[in-house]
Amino acid sequence: MARPLVADIDFDALRHNYALARELAGESRALAVIKADAYGHGAVACALALESLPEGKRPPAFAVACLEEAEALRLGGIASPIVLLEGIFEAAELARVEALGLWMAVHSEWQLQALLAHRPARPIPVWVKVDSGMHRLGFAPEQVESVWQRLSAAPECATGLQLMSHFATADAVDAGYFETQLQRMRDLAQRLQAPLCLANSPATLAWPQSHGSWVRPGVMLYGSDPLERPSAASRRLQPVMTLRSEIIAVRDLAVGEPVGYAGRWRAPRPSRIAVVACGYGDGYDRHAVDGTPVLVAGQRTTIAGKVSMDMLTVDVTDIPEADIGSEVVLWGRSRHGAVLGVDEVARYCDTISYTLLTGILPRVPRRYSRLD
Ligand SMILES: *Cc1c(COP(=O)(O)O)cnc(C)c1O
Repeated sequence: MARPLVADIDFDALRHNYALARELAGESRALAVIKADAYGHGAVACALALESLPEGKRPPAFAVACLEEAEALRLGGIASPIVLLEGIFEAAELARVEALGLWMAVHSEWQLQALLAHRPARPIPVWVKVDSGMHRLGFAPEQVESVWQRLSAAPECATGLQLMSHFATADAVDAGYFETQLQRMRDLAQRLQAPLCLANSPATLAWPQSHGSWVRPGVMLYGSDPLERPSAASRRLQPVMTLRSEIIAVRDLAVGEPVGYAGRWRAPRPSRIAVVACGYGDGYDRHAVDGTPVLVAGQRTTIAGKVSMDMLTVDVTDIPEADIGSEVVLWGRSRHGAVLGVDEVARYCDTISYTLLTGILPRVPRRYSRLD
């Protein structure tokens, strides 16, 4: 029998979450962010599952972080527009951008000059990235007017111009800084009569006033709720990845006996401990504390002892039916019906769902649901 650990990917849930993003986007168009191998879910497979939706329900574009990710999608047969969220990393990439029919962000002066010097056969759709307060990538607001004019004056190089910016705090309940960024972008859009693309998942979910011409949801498509305080909409998200394994050994321990490296956990009562085939060598976070939730045979219990490379240990004292071969869900949906959110697991690991999902390593086979 093969090692039982798999990442089950539920395309119905992916399509449901994308439909929710579209519904929330209203008049705005919703691209699907599938960078970082679709947040660990498999970019080509997820793109095919979304692209094969009927016209009008499928994403009008996908977004990735770099040319290599876009190349992989084109090789996988994805024909939809693909936006490079950070544009090019060197001027030589422009020939491939053109050949693959990609759209791209332009966030800095050297990229702008490279594009204007390149003279493509057909103009490239360009989204001008503005630093409205994240202070990572983008032109300062006071530079944007001249950038916009230079691009507008070169219709043979650039087309479909959009203003784009990224929020630093859209997930937070406190809207102060979010509104500062939004106002800066609205002022620019009005001055230049430019369409806007601003909203990541939390802004798509919680800030309709930010939706503009396009929204850019990422993590919500995979069923993770990025909001500090969940909303009625975010509660409708469904988990796409289920990290599923089985118990491979069980043992009884007397009071005071330790489990695993450094004996971090010690039995506070006569205990039954189950060993699960999943560890940090699979990408499960080693920072998971004692008490991190897992589902065993559909019932919640907790991690007991440090996560090892290939195994972890859970307390099944109160789940008498748990035995070798019982299902263990590290996050996602149990065959017994219960759901354990990746966001909840992330809190016990002092991290966010994004790192857990993107962290699942190639050793874990992805098993894709059938597409109708
Ligand atoms: C990753 C990314 C997104 C998606 O963010 P989520 O929080 O996953 O929705 C949107 N825009 C840009 C520029 C990004 O890099």
